[in-house]
Amino acid sequence: MRLILLGPPGIGKGTQAKILSRQFSIPQISTGDMLRDAVKEKTSLGIQAKEYMDAGKLVPDDLIINLIKDRLNNSDCKRGFILDGFPRTLLQAEALESLIKEINIKIDFVVDIDTENTDIIVSRVAGRRICPVCGRIYHIQNMPPKRDNRCDDDNAELIQRKDDNEETIRNRLKVYYEQTLPLKDFYKKHYESKYILVDGALSADSVNDKLHTMFKAQGVRDYSV
Ligand code: AMP
Repeated sequence: MRLILLGPPGIGKGTQAKILSRQFSIPQISTGDMLRDAVKEKTSLGIQAKEYMDAGKLVPDDLIINLIKDRLNNSDCKRGFILDGFPRTLLQAEALESLIKEINIKIDFVVDIDTENTDIIVSRVAGRRICPVCGRIYHIQNMPPKRDNRCDDDNAELIQRKDDNEETIRNRLKVYYEQTLPLKDFYKKHYESKYILVDGALSADSVNDKLHTMFKAQGVRDYSV
C-alpha cells in the first residue's frame, strides 16, 4: 500500500500515519520528523532547514526532494509507505510523479484530511505534545497521556514542538493555503477516484474507520491486520 497524506498542519496526518503504518506494516515517511532529526543532529541539511522550520516556512524544494529520493530507495519501502507531509508544493508533487515513474511504482491513494474550521487546527496544534523517545503524539485534551505529561509507552516527559505555538501555526496555515492547497486540484485531476477526502474534524479512530471503508470499497485486499 502506497499512500500520500495531504492536509493542513495539525489536522492529524501524523497520528493517522502512525495508525496506518501499524495496520499495513509499512513505514511512515514524515519529512517533518526527518528534518527535526537532521536539526537535532546538526547535519548540513538540519543547519539549512532550521531557520525555515522555526519561522513556519517551507524548506526549499530541492532539499526536500533529495531527502525523499534517498528515502524511497530504502529497502523498507518495497512493500509500501505512507508519505506524511510530502509533497507540499506543486513542484514537489511533480518531482514525486517523476520519481515513482523512475522506480516503477504507483501510489494507491491520496488521502486528504481536511476541515474548513481553522479553530480546530489551531487548538489541535497548541495542545499537541510529543514523546521525544518514541514519537507518539498526544493532545492535552483530546488524547491525553495516562500519567501527567508522561508517555504511556516509555514514561518519557512529553515535549511541545518549537513550531507548535499560536503565532507560528498561523504562519504555517498561511503557507499551507498558498502553497499546498493547489495540490488538491492536482491530485483530484490526476488520481480521480484514488483521491479520498476525509473530514479532519472527526476523531482519529473515526477517520481511520472511514479510510478502511473507502479502501475496501476500492478493492483493497492487502490487509496485514
Ligand atoms: P511537519 O512536521 O510536517 O508539520 O513539518 C514541520 C516543518 O518542516 C514545516 O513547517 C516545514 O518547515 C518543514 N517541512 C516538512 N515537510 C516539508 C516539505 N515537504 N516541504 C517543505 N518543508 C517541509
